[in-house]
This record gives sequence, C-alpha cells and structure tokens, in this order.
Amino acid sequence: MSAYQAPLADMRFALFDVLDAGRTFERLGFADATRDVLDAVLEEGARFAETVLAPLNAVGDREGCALDRDTGAVTTPAGFKQAYAQYVEGGWPALTAPVEFGGQGLPHALGVPLKEMIDAANLSWGNFPLLSHGATEALLHHGEPWQREAFLKPLVEGRWTGTMCLTEPHCGSDLGLLKTRAEPQADGSYAITGTKIFITAGEHDFTDNIVHLVLARLPDAPAGSRGISLFVVPKVKVGRDGAPGERNAVRCGSLEHKMGIHGSATCVMNFDGAQGWRVGQPHKGLAAMFTMMNTARLAVGLQGLGLSDRALQNALRYARERLQMRAPSGPRYPDKPADPIVVHPDVRRMLLTCKALVEGGRVLGYDAGLQVDIAAHAPDAAEREQAEALLGLLTPIVKACLTEWGVECTYHALQCFGGHGYIAEHGMEQLARDARITTLYEGTTGIQALDLLGRKIVQLQGAGLRVLLARIEAFCDAHAGNAALAEFVGPLRAKAAEWQHLTQRIVARAAGNAEEIGAAAYDYLLYSGYVALAYCWARSVAAAEARGSQALKDDKRATARFYFARVLPRTLAHAAAIESGLAALPELDG
Ligand SMILES: Cc1cc2nc3c(=O)[nH]c(=O)nc-3n(C[C@H](O)[C@H](O)[C@H](O)COP(=O)(O)OP(=O)(O)OC[C@H]3O[C@@H](n4cnc5c(N)ncnc54)[C@H](O)[C@@H]3O)c2cc1C
Repeated sequence: MSAYQAPLADMRFALFDVLDAGRTFERLGFADATRDVLDAVLEEGARFAETVLAPLNAVGDREGCALDRDTGAVTTPAGFKQAYAQYVEGGWPALTAPVEFGGQGLPHALGVPLKEMIDAANLSWGNFPLLSHGATEALLHHGEPWQREAFLKPLVEGRWTGTMCLTEPHCGSDLGLLKTRAEPQADGSYAITGTKIFITAGEHDFTDNIVHLVLARLPDAPAGSRGISLFVVPKVKVGRDGAPGERNAVRCGSLEHKMGIHGSATCVMNFDGAQGWRVGQPHKGLAAMFTMMNTARLAVGLQGLGLSDRALQNALRYARERLQMRAPSGPRYPDKPADPIVVHPDVRRMLLTCKALVEGGRVLGYDAGLQVDIAAHAPDAAEREQAEALLGLLTPIVKACLTEWGVECTYHALQCFGGHGYIAEHGMEQLARDARITTLYEGTTGIQALDLLGRKIVQLQGAGLRVLLARIEAFCDAHAGNAALAEFVGPLRAKAAEWQHLTQRIVARAAGNAEEIGAAAYDYLLYSGYVALAYCWARSVAAAEARGSQALKDDKRATARFYFARVLPRTLAHAAAIESGLAALPELDG
C-alpha cells in the first residue's frame, strides 16, 4: 500500500518563505491568522490526512460506492462516512468560510495546503466535500438573502454538502447545448426536469441533505449559453425559513463504473419536476456558475499536485531500497548484492522530474490561492484588480498544468517501481488511475487552453499576463546583482521576453484567422506553465538563500538547476509547435 506523509516543511517553505503569506495575511486584516494558528492548523490537517484518510484510500478503490436501485440511496466505502463525521467535528468545512455564516474566516490560502493533503491522502474521499466550498461561494455571491440564510450555514458546518450539476449526456464542454428545463411555479419556485450525468457526490450517506446547484433553461430562454439559468435544488426541500421539508423529486439513477476514483460517487441524477429556486438573474446562470467553477478548477489543480507528491514520496522510498545492478561507474554499496536503483541516472531523471514539478507546482498553486485572498480583501482597489487579473491567468494554468504533471508524475513514479508498479499491492497503479480524471473534469485541458489563450489573452487583452511579466521583471531587476541567483535570473528574463513576443505573434495571427487560437492553445498553455514554474523556482532559490539552512539552500538550488536544464527546455518544443500554426494541422473531418 502506498504511504503518505504530509510535506509540512515544504508547504511552510512555499507559503511563508517564498510567498511571504504571513505578511500578506496581516496586511489583509486576517487578525486571527497568526503564525501559531496557521502552524497548528497545518499540523492538525496533516494528522487527519495521514491517519484518517490515507488508510482509507485503497479501501475506497477496492469497494467503490454502491447504489440501492429501489431507493436511489448510495452507500460509500467502509470508513468514509465516519471520516466525514470526524472532518465535520474538527471544524474543517468552516475553516475559510465567512464568519457571518458560521465559518472561521481564515485565509483561503490556508485552505490550499489542507486541500493538497486531503487529495494526496484520498482523492476519492476529498471529492465529497470538494464542491461544498464552490456551492458556498456561488450562493454567497449570487444567492438571495433568504437562500444564503437557508443554505450557507448547513454547508459551512458540513451538515449538508454541495454538488455542481452541469453535464448532460449530449453536453459537457459545450454547456450551451443543455436541455434541462425549469418551469416557473406559482410560489416563486421552479420545477426542474432533466437528466444530469457524471455528478460528483450527487448522492451519498454522509449527510441528511445535499444541495445541488443546477444549470437549466427557462421556457423563454434564448438558445445557447446565453439562455442558461442557475438553480439551487436540495435533495430534501428547504422552505424560505430554512426548515427542511419533504423529499424532493431528485434521485440517483445509476453510478458510473470508471477507471479510477472508485470511492467517489459519480452519479446520474434524474430531476423529475424537482423544486428549485433560481440563483441570480434569469439567463445569467453560466456567469454565476463560473464563480463555483473557478474555485473548483484551482482545487482540481491541487488534486494533481497532491497525487504527484504522494507518488514521488513512494517512488523515492522504493528507489532507495530496491537493489538492482551496479552504478555505471562501479559499485556504490559493495557490501550489498547490488546498488539501490536511485544510483542510476535514469531513475534519478524520473524522480527529479517529479520533485521539480511538485515543489515548483506547490509555489504556483499556493500563489494562486493567495491571489484569491488579495482579490477579495486588499484595501487598495488597484491591488484587488491586479490580483483578479493574475488569478484569471493562473486559474487555467494551475488547473491544466498541475493535473497534466500529475498524470506525468504518477506515471514516472510507477515506472520507478518497474513491474511492481503495475501490481495493485503497492498502490502506484491506483495513483496513476486516479490522477487521470483530473485533466478531464472541471473542463478538459483543451478547454483550459482555450480559456487561457482565447479569453484571458485575446479577449481580455492579456491583463493578467502583463501583471505576471511585470512581476518577473521586477524580480529579475531586484536580483540582478545577486551572484547566487545569476544562473537563474538570466534565463528567466529571456524566457519572459520570449513569452511576451510569442504571445504578440499568436494574437496577430489570430486576428487573421480565429482558428489559429485553437491550433496554438494547448502548446501555449504548457509553454506558459513551464515559464511560470521557472519563476517559482527562481523565487524558491531566492527564499532559500535568504532564510534557509545550508541543506535547504543546496537542495533547492540543485532541483532548480535540474528544472532549468532538463524541464524548462520543453518550452522550445512547445514554441516550435505554436509557430507551426494552423497550417500544420490538416482537416480530418469527413
Ligand atoms: C468522474 C467524473 C466526475 C465528474 N463530475 C462532474 C460534476 O460533478 N458535475 C458536472 O457537471 N460534470 C462532471 N463531470 C463531467 C466533466 O466535467 C466532463 O466530462 C468534461 O467537462 C468534458 O465533457 P465531455 O465528457 O462531454 O467531453 P466533450 O465535451 O465531448 O469533449 C470531448 C473532447 O473534445 C474536446 N473539445 C470539446 N470542445 C472543444 C473545443 N471547443 N476546442 C477544443 N477541444 C474541444 C475536449 O477537450 C475533449 O478532449 C465529471 C466527469 C467525470 C468523468
């Protein structure tokens, strides 16, 4: 079975040393977020993830969820429900939620490492509370006062969980095609009718009620994505006074059988005239749902990070123990029958690739989390606006890159185990199977790429990119005379300039033919991720130099060197693919 130990030291390093989050929290007015409190939360979160969730990971994979077809009830794997009760008892659902609705009001960026630990320990279990946070955000920003009163407290306390019901059999990426109907009723509610598929945690045995946020069409809705409205549809009806009523006409019709995350209930949900309440303006549901989706996209990025880290931990341990053949230059451990495989350069290549992507990715993912706090709480409007723009840029990068790297890292880690990685006993194949979903749900990598290039760069004229490039330039200027950083600052400055020029060329080409955006989008996304990660690595070396022990300085420098020498050059291939443009993509239809 694969083990998990929360990487608290590196989490603290990323959050407090590289990103200086402690000072930011203070500046944003989080009076309770003292270093002692933050440390205590991280330690307690680590204990919960390591001792309660991690041991249930293989159980969830083996048992999966079960549906009672007569009642539509779903039973989760052994131990999952009890773990959720402990989660609620520990106050975890309320950690970063608003105080007004029973939350603890701690910074969002503190919830980020907690999320990483939960997903690393048990991704399937983590999917049950995942969407409660997004549902809370959507209702907080778009719900009527009575809806906030009725739904938020139980969600924040963890007594109820949330779902996100978008996908239908014929529509996934293209939500403009959705058919679920919402008929207005005399009492101001709506009767919701339709079938939603692939709904994560659509039904389960953790809580008495489940709050579905559902996209549907009003009778007079225009066709396409401009005709979609958002509704809150509880499993058990809720009156305007918040009192629970009778069972609503929504039911789980079946559970999907899938490649991984077996412990996560992926449900077909049938809405049969279910009572729902509109959230936000008619026909503006997609915009409201984006509040929820953006939160969820960052969270899915952290799923990729968590799985990569757990896979790396296991592969590193195995590579230090497994004895096969001798080091190329002669025996390193002559007293043993063979050397541990970690002496082989190719095994180190795989391990270091994971380490560079995990530790750099941690800084990237946590930085996005910090921007959420700054965008919401900075006293200065210009700073809030900058953080919002940067967050807009980082969201598709974090979602897509951390999950693509999650797939890559779990495969590298499995490879380090040789044939034993393919055998269920070690848990490595589960990590690889579980990781595979993360590049698909919450918008595929292809859709994230379109969001980045089509929307954030072309439509919004690259406001977020300008913020990031200015920060990279300021960092390079600040460290221009720093000999310890010279080997990173030069290449980083050059890559940032190349990123800017590449962007300008794509935008110019897209003005002539919009299809050029789709042709370049995936490579542009990955290119952007690797340059953003180079910045994270340069910042990490700077932070280690300023505040770290000698061992930390050596470790960060060596990994950063590996990243700049062996991973960052992937940008060359992506840039070449981008430059080849639409002309290199022949038509395949018909
Ligand atoms: C386990 C699991 C859990 C899920 N949980 C939820 C949930 O809780 N709630 C929910 O609503 N949904 C959920 N989903 C659905 C998920 O979000 C969708 O599967 C996903 O968004 C892709 O939609 P699709 O499967 O219909 O693929 P399609 O949209 O049919 O896409 C197929 C392929 O075409 C590509 N493609 C499509 N359009 C474009 C384009 N314009 N440009 C470039 N490429 C394009 C895609 O990238 C993809 O590679 C879940 C799915 C799974 C498998």
